[in-house]
Amino acid sequence: MHKYPIPPYKIKMVEPIKMISREERVKKLEEAGYNPFKLRSEDVFIDLLTDSGTGAMSHFQWSALMMGDEAYAGSRSFYRLEKVVKNITGYKYVMPAHQGRGAEQVVIPELVTKEHMYFISNIHFDTTRAHVEIAGARAIDCVIKECFDLDEYHPFKGNFDLEKLEEIILEKGKENIAGIIMTITNNSAGGQPVSIENMTSVNKIAKKYDIPVIIDGARYAENAYFVKQREKGYENKTIREIAKVAFDLADIFLMSAKKDGLVNIGGIIAIKDNEELFQKCQTNIVPKEGFPTYGGLAGRDMDALAVGLEEALDEQYLAYRIDEVKYLGDLLKEAGVPIQYPTGGHAVFVDCGAIAPHIPYDQFPAQAVSNALYIEGGIRPVEIGSLLLGRDPDTHENLKADKEFMRLTIPRRTYTLEHLRYVAESLIKVYNNRESIKGLEFTYESPLLRHFTAKFKPVE
Ligand SMILES: *Cc1c(COP(=O)(O)O)cnc(C)c1O
Repeated sequence: MHKYPIPPYKIKMVEPIKMISREERVKKLEEAGYNPFKLRSEDVFIDLLTDSGTGAMSHFQWSALMMGDEAYAGSRSFYRLEKVVKNITGYKYVMPAHQGRGAEQVVIPELVTKEHMYFISNIHFDTTRAHVEIAGARAIDCVIKECFDLDEYHPFKGNFDLEKLEEIILEKGKENIAGIIMTITNNSAGGQPVSIENMTSVNKIAKKYDIPVIIDGARYAENAYFVKQREKGYENKTIREIAKVAFDLADIFLMSAKKDGLVNIGGIIAIKDNEELFQKCQTNIVPKEGFPTYGGLAGRDMDALAVGLEEALDEQYLAYRIDEVKYLGDLLKEAGVPIQYPTGGHAVFVDCGAIAPHIPYDQFPAQAVSNALYIEGGIRPVEIGSLLLGRDPDTHENLKADKEFMRLTIPRRTYTLEHLRYVAESLIKVYNNRESIKGLEFTYESPLLRHFTAKFKPVE
């Protein structure tokens, strides 16, 4: 084991980044309504908003772009992508989508066959929750309680609470459960992995009650890497073999390929063997995403994705990725900054409820700390707390998140350890001045997915 993670690639092309002055950052943030989503990226020095579509492609992917077949129907690029996805998943039916939410809007409504249905997930990702609600169903989260014990080590904090899962099914009635969504890794609570053992039990329960299982697998390769590291019996399996075991435990695979697809845009729908569902989705995809052999993507995008899916299964690549996230987490933890421990696959989740206990949940402590980090270091994180969670769809009350997280999301193959060290140093300064951070109140709020467009002012 080396002291620091070593990347299994070298840099061939660079993109300059520039830091504007502190006074300018103060002004830009005010103009952005104290919402980092509304900043221009040129005013950001290190962008940790998301790992979605922000990674660097390899020279193999860039050359694959040139092979794109831009035919509207039956493109060679589609068949290349289909072959790779079938190979990895073992599923029979494949369709591309323009990104993860595109896949969700095609498939989720087809699973909601009547009124008052529910989806159950370890934790629904925000767009997944939105599509569940748009389809007229309700989203219930069912993750183990250890997930919210940030200091205690647990190898698989993304796991389902199996007892609770069965209770929910019995309480709501099995005929009212539209699907069980296994989010791997569990994005919303730290990119935490789900064990194969847990997925096996979820699958068993689902089959007992005849409920379809969906893998929301934006980071399925990272999940497989954690399984290899932490779950007994998988030490000597390849990442691909472990991923295949997971796919065998589900019926449908929805993927934002902007994560473990290693591309800047793209999504995947794969269905194991339900031909009727596939046919319905084929009809539904045309007006929403496009013809089933391009689903909103250019031919070249599908070629780059076909290559990226293979690269993301490389164990050396995954080892560096997971270790660099841990590197940032370790620097913060050593300085006393409270984080979700152990760190997950794609981000360090910082516990802003603990950093700013003087800010109430409906003044969004994690958004406030995020803004302070932007002012301090030109770094753009993202809030994963009560702001993201939104309001109860029935009562319209502000919901209170279990944790007020600020996510420092690491784009793939993009920043160096020096960048990450600078991020740690900046956040430690913010942490040491934490009493001065002020809460926020809305000056504008949209009814759905409010975190993207909301505007605020600091509470004086
Ligand atoms: C990103 C993501 C999505 C949505 O995908 P987009 O490509 O952003 O539309 C869905 N589920 C999970 C777990 C994600 O991380």
